[in-house]
Order: sequence, then structure tokens, then C-alpha cells
Amino acid sequence: MNYTVMIPAAGSGKRMGAGQNKLFLEIGGLPILYHTVSVFLEDPHCEEIIIAVKPEEQTVIKEMLARSDKGKIITFVKGGGERQNSVAACIETYEGNGIVLVHDAARPFLDSSVIRKLVSTANEKGAAIAAVRAKDTIKLAANNVVQQTLDRENLWLVQTPQAFRYELLKRASDAAVREGFLGTDESMLVERIGYSVQIVEGSYDNVKMTTQEDLAIGEVLLERRK
Ligand code: C5P
Repeated sequence: MNYTVMIPAAGSGKRMGAGQNKLFLEIGGLPILYHTVSVFLEDPHCEEIIIAVKPEEQTVIKEMLARSDKGKIITFVKGGGERQNSVAACIETYEGNGIVLVHDAARPFLDSSVIRKLVSTANEKGAAIAAVRAKDTIKLAANNVVQQTLDRENLWLVQTPQAFRYELLKRASDAAVREGFLGTDESMLVERIGYSVQIVEGSYDNVKMTTQEDLAIGEVLLERRK
């Protein structure tokens, strides 16, 4: 089953402390963004790639991705001030009515088996997100004082991709804009309009490159995949 992917890539990556967009940092000699987009360029089921970028970075990103040109349509849109605004710009640009995936540009180690499961679950149920089970005990705290120990059996660490029927994502995104709601993922927007979101078990390899330590982990993951 075919799909379109929307990739927000317009962040600044302050937590990485690289003094530039962290997506240009390299793992195995190639930029993080290159690794991420390559997964979709190489997937025959991916029909279109829509990437939200900062206007001043568009040329350099186009040149970076031209190295791995597989004749697939890549549409560039102007990113916004927050991640959600960047995704909203992708949603506005999309012209189809199929299954769409939203995937963070900062997660370069995505397995195609997870994509398959997400696309088929979203097609069947409307909304599906990749997540892994919490390995640690997680506590809810206020001012560093534990309020509650949460039941680990029911806790999931949520990643991207998140997959949706387009009309559902569009409706959820429009409602968020109208009501001034800012979420940290697309699932939240869909949940708040009363829709059930399915969890698809993903992979612990699908880490988000956020701090310098993640880059070292990335080098190991890449080596293991070779
Ligand atoms: O900062 P963080 O890693 O959580 O960002 C997740 C993704 O959202 C990254 O790929 C980043 O480039 C993107 N983003 C964006 N527009 C923003 C902020 C973040 O496209 N304004």
C-alpha cells in the first residue's frame, strides 16, 4: 500500500549545541537528514516526500538530497516556528487523499517493517503511531517529589512515524490551529478530537538524534546495519 511522508526538518537543534541545524551533522560521513530521507527514497511504496525546511537552508538540502536522487518527487515547503507549524505547512501542501506519515528528520534509523505495519494499521483504523515499551520505571513528580509510580505495563515511549488517513490528520490539524493548541506530536491533535490512535510496536534503534551522546549511538547503529 502506497503512502506520502511529511518530514519536518526546519528545527534548530539547540539541545545538540552544534551551532547549526543538527540535521547537517554527519553519521558515517553522511548528514543525518540524508540518512532519514534515503529510507523513503528507497521505499517503492513511498509516492511523495514533503519536507519542511528553513528557506535559507533549502538550496543546501536540495543539493544534499540530489546525491541520492531516485527520481522521486520531493516537495519543499517553508517550515514554521514550532514543529507543529512545520507539519501544518506540509499538510496544506499535500493534494492527495491517502495515507500520510509524519516522520522526524532527526530519526535516521527507521525500519521499513515498521512503516509497513503503520501504513496498514492507519488504513484500517485511521491513526497509528510507532512506540516502544518503557524499559525503566517511570514516576510522576512535582518539584522533584514523587507523586505517583506509573504502571510500566501500560507505558509506551512514542516515536515517529505517525500514520493517518489524510482527512483525519487535516481535520485534527485544522482544529488545533483554530483553537490555538500546540502539541508535541500529531497523535495528540488526533486524540483531542476524540479519535482512537493505535500503537504499533517499533524499534529501540529508531532514536531521535537530540544530544551529542545520540550521535555516538548513531555511529554504532549504522555500523551494526552494514
Ligand atoms: O527538536 P526536535 O528534535 O524535537 O524536533 C523534531 C523534528 O522537528 C526535527 O526533525 C526538526 O528539524 C523538526 N522541526 C521543524 N520545525 C521546527 C522545529 C522542529 O521542522 N520549528
